[in-house]
Amino acid sequence: MESHLGRGSSQAPSVAYFSMEFGIEPEIPTYSGGLGVLAGDTIRAAADLGLPFVGISLLHRKGYFRQHLDRTGNQAESDLDWSPEEVLQSLPSRAMITIAGRQVQIRAWRYTVRGQFGHSVPIYFLDTDFAENSPEDRRLTDLLYRGDDYYRLCQEIVLGIGGVAMLRALGYKQIQAYHMNEGHSAFIAVALVAEQTWGRSLLSASSADVEAVRQRCVFTTHTPVSAGHDRFPVDMVRHALGQVQTDFLLRANCCPDGCLNMTELALRFSRYVNGVSMRHEKTSRTMFCDHPIDSVTNGVHATTWTSEPFQRLYDRFIPEWRRDNLYLRYAIGIPREEIRQAHAEAKARLLAEIDRRTGRALDAGILTIGFARRATAYKRPDLLFHDMERLKSIAGKAGPFQIVYGGKAHPRDEEGKNLIRRVFHAAGVLQDALTVVYLEEYDMALGKILCSGVDLWLNTPQKSLEASGTSGMKAALNGVPSLSVVDGWWVEGHVENITGWAIGNNWRIESTLEAETESLYDKLENVILPLFYKQPQEYARIMRSAIALNGSYFNAQRMLTQYLYNAYNRAGFPGSNGDGAMPAEALPFEAPTYFEPTENFI
Ligand SMILES: *Cc1c(COP(=O)(O)O)cnc(C)c1O
Repeated sequence: MESHLGRGSSQAPSVAYFSMEFGIEPEIPTYSGGLGVLAGDTIRAAADLGLPFVGISLLHRKGYFRQHLDRTGNQAESDLDWSPEEVLQSLPSRAMITIAGRQVQIRAWRYTVRGQFGHSVPIYFLDTDFAENSPEDRRLTDLLYRGDDYYRLCQEIVLGIGGVAMLRALGYKQIQAYHMNEGHSAFIAVALVAEQTWGRSLLSASSADVEAVRQRCVFTTHTPVSAGHDRFPVDMVRHALGQVQTDFLLRANCCPDGCLNMTELALRFSRYVNGVSMRHEKTSRTMFCDHPIDSVTNGVHATTWTSEPFQRLYDRFIPEWRRDNLYLRYAIGIPREEIRQAHAEAKARLLAEIDRRTGRALDAGILTIGFARRATAYKRPDLLFHDMERLKSIAGKAGPFQIVYGGKAHPRDEEGKNLIRRVFHAAGVLQDALTVVYLEEYDMALGKILCSGVDLWLNTPQKSLEASGTSGMKAALNGVPSLSVVDGWWVEGHVENITGWAIGNNWRIESTLEAETESLYDKLENVILPLFYKQPQEYARIMRSAIALNGSYFNAQRMLTQYLYNAYNRAGFPGSNGDGAMPAEALPFEAPTYFEPTENFI
């Protein structure tokens, strides 16, 4: 019988989920940030739900990098050394691919993610580092997002083509959906067409062959920034991938302007394409106007990202929440004092960690603001410091606050590195008025402590550039409201004074820097600080509704169920209606945030 959803782990996997990075455990440095954490959360949710899944990635023996910050905020990087032998299981299977005319052997390491009811999902990390390969090829699976374009292209060949070859070597023949988490793995399409045309030339692929591949591929695009889409010169592709494959890609119109565009490749060969929030769907439709694009808004794995004190609290009041995250809706019935108590514990944990790392003792009685994400221009970590005199005056008038930062800049992102220096500089200027700390080495472990331990989560992306954002969702699960520009997931998650606060206008309206900073300062001074200090029970009410409204929805269980309903089930999955066509306007998405909440909404 065909494998079937919801059956035990002995069934053949039906979804192969490909991602350049996976955030599994803080000690396994095979991720750099949001994309990898999302991949890990997806697999964790699949294991909980008992879905027939398998993950594919690269080993990244030297990981992303370790971050070192000096006293003025200059970032230096060093390689991360870890021992795959200690946490992964090496498998005897071998796959072979060709890169630049050389045969490259690939092996795989397995990590098994266990769900809460015992179902398990394997992730295979591909590795080229062994004696049979040339020294150059042995290094291909070492570095995550470092190396030059050619190195990156070769890595993507290993991931897409090597990944499919490895699945076959491992005996996975019946995969119904190949999910490309971002365009890095789009060479899957070339591998599948090659299988489809086995014994013939790739160039003989008919439209029926292509359609057969399309029916099995799902593509999630993650960035509205065009620099985020990989492009490789055709000559480079020809050298690495081969003449026939490159001719095929040219013929398939994946190489506009002399460059292979990995997003274009993924779009052309996928049956279902989605952005990661409703807002991002809109942006992506404008970017890729030839292609129908849907959205599945991201979510975070609830039990992974909920702090201990809140886990205990939910276990007492809504024990069903672990099995079914929708039950978090009933957090609305938890007494506010209990919420405050659990949060105080999470906050104490954060302050202890800050003390341990920096020797600085922050005050538990003071409103604590968190900001942690990749340091890069559009996320604007320095927006808060636009007017430092104003900040000082707010602290004087409305009450003190302290700010905790974290985040790495990509080694080649000079602008991002400069932003870290700017935060350090601001911390110096403000030191007599408010405390600003920047924590090194933001990773999943620190992310959990930070998102759950602060009183307010701040997010200041430049509008339309935040595809989703997920750290605010982690905060919401822990009763931490957001103060955020209305972009990405916050377009859907924001209800003013109920789940947090908006910076600037709604998502439809462009705001200027001046208007946004004015709004940020105004909310802090006139709404948030007075509420926190003068009406703590009211503040707790907002914390609670953030859990009930946003924790119950922006979780990976809901996200994966939506992939099931909208993507996998329609890609030839069992239960699929097999109709094939996705309507061009898939979602009647209009006016989201923007049911205007009334006074007595809750
Ligand atoms: C959750 C997480 C991210 C993603 O957060 P965004 O809000 O999407 O930027 C990045 N890095 C780490 C370590 C995380 O835990």
